[in-house]
Amino acid sequence: MTGSDDLIRQARATTAGGLPKSPRKNTAVIACIDARVDPVRILGGEQGDYHVIRNAGGLVTDDALRSLMVSQFYGTTRVVVMMHTDCGAMAYPADAERQRLEAETGGRIAFDMHPFDDLETELRAGVERVRNTPLLPNRDNVRGVIYDVETTRLRTVVE
Ligand code: ZN
Repeated sequence: MTGSDDLIRQARATTAGGLPKSPRKNTAVIACIDARVDPVRILGGEQGDYHVIRNAGGLVTDDALRSLMVSQFYGTTRVVVMMHTDCGAMAYPADAERQRLEAETGGRIAFDMHPFDDLETELRAGVERVRNTPLLPNRDNVRGVIYDVETTRLRTVVE
């Protein structure tokens, strides 16, 4: 048994087949990788309802925009950018870690680490980034929300 066999067995037991490629709620969600944040459950949906694009922070990066382009090709017309309280990406010492990792491994990090220090400022900037990307056909319905990991409440910051 390898390190993740138990996970694969569990996944086969819980994954539903026969779902359409286009999400039922015509919505793409950009969210953080944080295990406490489950965008589908938070938004009251189920498997097949949303496209979920995740990265550390729930940031609107170039790659998130690339995924959003694919998502909109498959029919999504609404975007929710979901950031959350107590975000590990915000506390991550990006510059220090970059220097440490490069020094220790001899490798070079060729991508932007996207450090940020204010949740609402970054969220507003992310929503603006989506709205200002002409390659996206659907930019009129973009909402920015913050999920509170303690109260489990969702607060709209930009609509
Ligand atoms: Zn986070």
